[in-house]
Amino acid sequence: MESLNINGKTLRLTIQRKPIRNLILRLKSPDELLVSAPYACSNAEVLRFIETKRSWIAAHAEKLARQQTRQAEAAAVGKIMVYGKPVQLQWVIGRGKARLLPDRLVLYGPDTQPETKQRAFDQFAKNSLEAEVERLRPRWDQVVTDYHLALPSIHYRRMTSRWGSCIPAKSKITLNLKLVHYPLACVDSVLWHEYAHLIVPNHSQRFYSVILHHMPDYEVRKALLNGDL
Ligand SMILES: [Zn+2]
Repeated sequence: MESLNINGKTLRLTIQRKPIRNLILRLKSPDELLVSAPYACSNAEVLRFIETKRSWIAAHAEKLARQQTRQAEAAAVGKIMVYGKPVQLQWVIGRGKARLLPDRLVLYGPDTQPETKQRAFDQFAKNSLEAEVERLRPRWDQVVTDYHLALPSIHYRRMTSRWGSCIPAKSKITLNLKLVHYPLACVDSVLWHEYAHLIVPNHSQRFYSVILHHMPDYEVRKALLNGDL
């Protein structure tokens, strides 16, 4: 573990060797940078590569920090963000069905353990996202049908570094449960991004032209999701 100074801030640096061809940078948090490097790549080369990416790292770290601050501010007054709006979290001991009201999210559980609360929240997030995606997907189902492709199955789970993933060969899309915190316009943009991988598996220019053809404000939605707006 080494450390790195970016714009006066210290970042922890972890370098992992992997059977890959190119260096990949990933910010795990505003103060931790993870680098995946090919076996043949020396530490000096890794550091030189990082040098060329300084402004990207600084901008990204700031963005992540802003996002965390917003969520912490809501949490400090017992609120959480649901579809981009702060709501009061009301925890009720007992049995019941989670309810999202205009100003409150009511969740039920047998005790107040953090794991119990997390489980109840994740269950709510999954059910709620599932219902929203059912409303959003017909449009994207139509697009892939026009390409003579099979409709995907959609799964939900908590992920740490991605908003969604797609395995085109299995026609399987997975969405991050954390999307429940963001506006539906963002959820829809991630959903469409993963659907578009059924048409173009990689992130080529063709991929983005398919994306923009059906969602011209894709970049705005993406910026909103990443805390740029
Ligand atoms: Zn992608």
